[in-house]
Amino acid sequence: MIDLYKVPLGSTARNFFAAAAEKNYSYDEALLVLPSRLLVEHTRKVSRGQAVSFEYLTNRIVTLNRRLLDLPAEAKLELISRRTQELLVGDLLHQLSKLQGLDYFSKLADKEGFIKAITGLLGQLSRSGSTQEEITTALLEWEERNPAYVMKDREVAALYNLYRNKLKQKNWYDVEGLYRLAAVLEKPQASLPWQHLYFSEFYHFDALQRLIIKALSAHCQISIGLMYEPKRPEIFAAVERSYGYLSGFAGQAELSQEAVERKPALQHLVDNLGRSGCLPLAAADGIEFIEAGDSESEVRAVLRSIKEKLQTGAAYGDFLVAVRDFNTYSGIRAVCDEYGLPVTLPAAASLSAQPVCEFLRLLLAVAAGGSEAVAAYWRLLKCGVVKMVYGFDGEQLNRLKQDHLYSSLQQLRKAVADKINEIGTAQWSDELSELETYLDKVPRRATVAAYGEVLKGVLEALALPEKVGAEYRKGRAQLREVKNLTETVRQLVEVLDTLQEDYQNGGLENIALNAADYSRLLLTACAERQVVLTAADSEGILFGEAANLQGLLFKYVYIMGLREGEFPRSKNESWIYNDSERVILSSVGVELENTACAYAEDKFFFAAVAAMATETLTLSWYSDDAAGASAYVEDVERLYAPGSIVKYRAGRCGLQQSLSEQELLQRLAQADPEHNWLLERLGADWPLRSSIEKIRRQDGSIYKGIIEDERLQRAVNEAVGGFFSASYLETYAQCPYRFLLSYVWKQQQYEELTETVEPTVEGNLLHDVLARFMALHLQEKLTKYPQKQLVSQLDDIMTSVCEEYIENNKIAVTDFWPSQRRRLNLLLRRWLERELAYQREWEPFVPVKIEWDFGKNGSTPLALPVAGGKIYLNGRIDRIDSDGRGLFVTDYKRGATPSGSDLTAGLDLQMPVYLLALAALEPQNVVLGGGYYSLKEARRKGGFALQALGKTPFTINNKPFSEGDDQWSDFSDFCRITIRGYADALHQGIFPPAPRKKCPEFCPGKDICRAYGNLAAEGGEDNV
Ligand code: SF4
Repeated sequence: MIDLYKVPLGSTARNFFAAAAEKNYSYDEALLVLPSRLLVEHTRKVSRGQAVSFEYLTNRIVTLNRRLLDLPAEAKLELISRRTQELLVGDLLHQLSKLQGLDYFSKLADKEGFIKAITGLLGQLSRSGSTQEEITTALLEWEERNPAYVMKDREVAALYNLYRNKLKQKNWYDVEGLYRLAAVLEKPQASLPWQHLYFSEFYHFDALQRLIIKALSAHCQISIGLMYEPKRPEIFAAVERSYGYLSGFAGQAELSQEAVERKPALQHLVDNLGRSGCLPLAAADGIEFIEAGDSESEVRAVLRSIKEKLQTGAAYGDFLVAVRDFNTYSGIRAVCDEYGLPVTLPAAASLSAQPVCEFLRLLLAVAAGGSEAVAAYWRLLKCGVVKMVYGFDGEQLNRLKQDHLYSSLQQLRKAVADKINEIGTAQWSDELSELETYLDKVPRRATVAAYGEVLKGVLEALALPEKVGAEYRKGRAQLREVKNLTETVRQLVEVLDTLQEDYQNGGLENIALNAADYSRLLLTACAERQVVLTAADSEGILFGEAANLQGLLFKYVYIMGLREGEFPRSKNESWIYNDSERVILSSVGVELENTACAYAEDKFFFAAVAAMATETLTLSWYSDDAAGASAYVEDVERLYAPGSIVKYRAGRCGLQQSLSEQELLQRLAQADPEHNWLLERLGADWPLRSSIEKIRRQDGSIYKGIIEDERLQRAVNEAVGGFFSASYLETYAQCPYRFLLSYVWKQQQYEELTETVEPTVEGNLLHDVLARFMALHLQEKLTKYPQKQLVSQLDDIMTSVCEEYIENNKIAVTDFWPSQRRRLNLLLRRWLERELAYQREWEPFVPVKIEWDFGKNGSTPLALPVAGGKIYLNGRIDRIDSDGRGLFVTDYKRGATPSGSDLTAGLDLQMPVYLLALAALEPQNVVLGGGYYSLKEARRKGGFALQALGKTPFTINNKPFSEGDDQWSDFSDFCRITIRGYADALHQGIFPPAPRKKCPEFCPGKDICRAYGNLAAEGGEDNV
């Protein structure tokens, strides 16, 4: 039996339910089910009944009814994490592409962003209220479906079925699976201990929750309190569907409530918000607006207003501060601390930003080897953890950099050890050896479990909490530092264990990852966690997100962030299924949320929170060129006579009005600039800091990627070094800020984890096979051999290269390997076929060199004068062909090649660098040009050639610079000027976020960069 209680805006059935539960049932016989932890905790504080979340309820149902679930006795129900789900989906995508080939999603299947998005969609489908079969039918038998999308539906249906079957087979449960299990309630013999369940403060029940509630009603009494007014569809659109469904089988019940005492203007808002044709009220006593010029001023204005009220007798419990999303207010706790306001927000920092996490990542970066390892080793020597644990002077060792350019890690490690022996004590040598032992323990390639064990071993051996504890006892560290470090190490160990578990659950425990990939994985996992620096004060002022608040009352309510795009949040349509497709699927029973639902929810959240105020409601926002006040502000303004709402403009207050030490000092410093002690106390840059938001928006400032500080510029130049490769320069050309993040801050790009051979490994393998094959045929035409013989030679080389890769653990032999190997073989044969055709027609060119290095493996780099010195260009040319008089460069690419206009736009720097190097370092030859060879398409594409190259059996661009008298001289001048321009800008510290190509999906700046967002993502291509 279900009773449905409909309550108006600003009311709740919760108190009525809590009182009824307390009066009629013992503690265990009734539950009050609430939608958010915040409400559960709040209710537990104020009433005696048992308050729980919906998740708790479903878990209890499953636990109590295990025997009805038809599981073998030994079966263990496991709830899998989101990462395991993603790993599983990624794995299934590969399987699917292996089994039937993917057409629609083929290019995206291994992209991390896509795997996340499709995992989200599978979850939504599971919660859509339809069975697996119904969903499959809806997707496959979509009426009047545009043929262009049929393939997409098929692939989504296949993936969904594979995913659900895999979960069933393994007895694993995602959150949606758990809900489905709870549907066991439909069986009459299901057992439940409760006599009455009360649901309150939900604005919406998804399809599965509704099924569960209905099934529960066969076992116990259900009461549901829903805030809903059918005559205000603008506010209650988000509630409509759930109300409509529940009222179809629930009895309508009446709730008599005591009227809430609100100021008349606030009651007017509660009664009329969202109603059309309401007459404006003459007075708006209790409604206030605060408009600020930037986010920090907005926060300060709100906190000042709260503090003023506290000074006149208000209690902490009288306040509510609501925002739509706390992620837009990361530093708010620190400002609250400055004003001395206890709040329910903890001060937290990302685990990934903690020095111990950086230390582990540096160990991994050194273990990964390659060009990054040398820089990582330098950073390791002076990182926070090394400084804390060891006595040797890492900064002094870092100066070794100025004496010599270390291109190999081995050479560098030896130089550091020698230097320590020369300048340091025996203790320094011992300490360095200890650090070296840790480095040696970290494998270059291993399973997730192996990495986890090694890193946990390192953490244990370092005994960081004990060390900082000892420092604390000597008075050299603060208690806060001890707590932070202990918590960081605890969480890191937990992350290492969780990663191990996720991979095991995903069935990928035997897959070996390289150290760089594991490091990225660790970073992503750590970025999801926070280390609490200072705990929340549960008795302090309540700060909450609007989505988690309902049915509460406060004297003073503040809603911050009422800015366009923030509240309501701007929403993008899902790109897998857009809004119109979702509407069609919903109409056939597969209920999927769309952006209209999301906007309706935001509107409801705003109204519900605004209705909580009884004395004052303060709405605040900041305006700038990008956005102004949210439309909700106007909705409220419309309810009152023009000019009746008090509007404050956040700004500087006078000396007497200062409410924090910081404010007081600033005012004093302003009032008397002669007394420098104040400026010293505040820091000479306080005027800058106080207007940071405005400055940030100005071009050419340090906040737009321009480094002005000379010391910092020098440090950046040091980190950049003097050696440049073409891809290094190309990154700068495409986006200087991305360059800074990738090569100076060493932020790794997030890349996909895969059970199959990684793209870079695949590229290296193809490169090695082609190099070895062509090495047998230098100075001759392949056409002189029978094709069959060449094919078998190529196959033999492929076999031996693969064996080497497997032996060296570069390739893991998984179920996928045979089919991948077949694909690579096919690709090589297609290349051979095309190569023969080219060689037949391209007379008299023959390959003359392969893997021609410059500036690598002891070879001379190309020196290029730039402002204040020289830079050195390095690289490896895959292949050089010659007709006896001139040279032509070939660069193999696994996939796409640079477009024709990229060269003159200064975005394709590979050919310029290669051709300049070849001309300078092999002066006895004439350089005729160079081009790319797309292995995927099995054809030569793009590049640049001098007119002198003459006719070729492939298309090559010889137009640029052909107008002048000397095409080579014009080309090489252009290249030198372009490269020099980048090098000079780089050395001057110019790193604006200014993408000249679409931002790559996996740009490390994606989450922090203000220039990302409007630009669509694209996948990168690898140089073979
Ligand atoms: S997100 Fe775009 S603009 Fe920002 S750093 Fe990356 S590439 Fe540059």
